[in-house]
Amino acid sequence: MSLQRRVFVISGPSGAGKGTLVTRACSERPFLQTAVSCTTRKPRDGEIDGRHYYFITDDEFLALVDAGEFLETAYVHGHRYGTLKSEVLRIIESGSSVILEIDVQGGMQVKKEIPEAVLIFIEPPSLEDLEKRLRSRKSESEEDIELRMSNAMQEMLLSNSYDAAVINDDVKQATEDLLEIIADFENVDDGKEDLGFEL
Ligand code: 5GP
Repeated sequence: MSLQRRVFVISGPSGAGKGTLVTRACSERPFLQTAVSCTTRKPRDGEIDGRHYYFITDDEFLALVDAGEFLETAYVHGHRYGTLKSEVLRIIESGSSVILEIDVQGGMQVKKEIPEAVLIFIEPPSLEDLEKRLRSRKSESEEDIELRMSNAMQEMLLSNSYDAAVINDDVKQATEDLLEIIADFENVDDGKEDLGFEL
């Protein structure tokens, strides 16, 4: 049995609690780090550039696309998002597994580029529950909530292409479930020590 550092993609509808689960999982486990994405959306209150996202302009984003710097990109809720290859490589080379908290369009692109990547879908207990959570966040407009709800239904339809799913009903239990899936995929029986992919 060997330990293999991996790329984990975590997707799920906005408001399903991906961020909370990922933060908890990373604080409970060493050698697990999130990659910071680029986005063209404006920072929310309390969000820090370089920590929550790299907040960049459309022009900067398109220049990075042209330079081939992205592992994946997507247009989500009216804004551009993307994962830099350099960010993923930096984390893997430091000896950690990497978590990409990205949407399903991005998840599919990562699976194509890195077939060994593990795709995990975080589900809310129900769509009603999801709407309640989005409203309680009070950070989105009514129009934005409606857009996020319609995207949520589309994302849930694609979830069966994912390798595993976690239902986020109880945060503590869902964090444990997520950590168990991560550990299962890191412990492999093929004798390989590294990921064996190039970006
Ligand atoms: P938010 O604007 O609420 O932070 O994120 C909106 C959506 O964009 C979420 O589903 C989030 O997972 C997704 N997202 C964040 N970063 C990336 C990224 O780098 N690539 C892709 N494809 N989606 C992302």
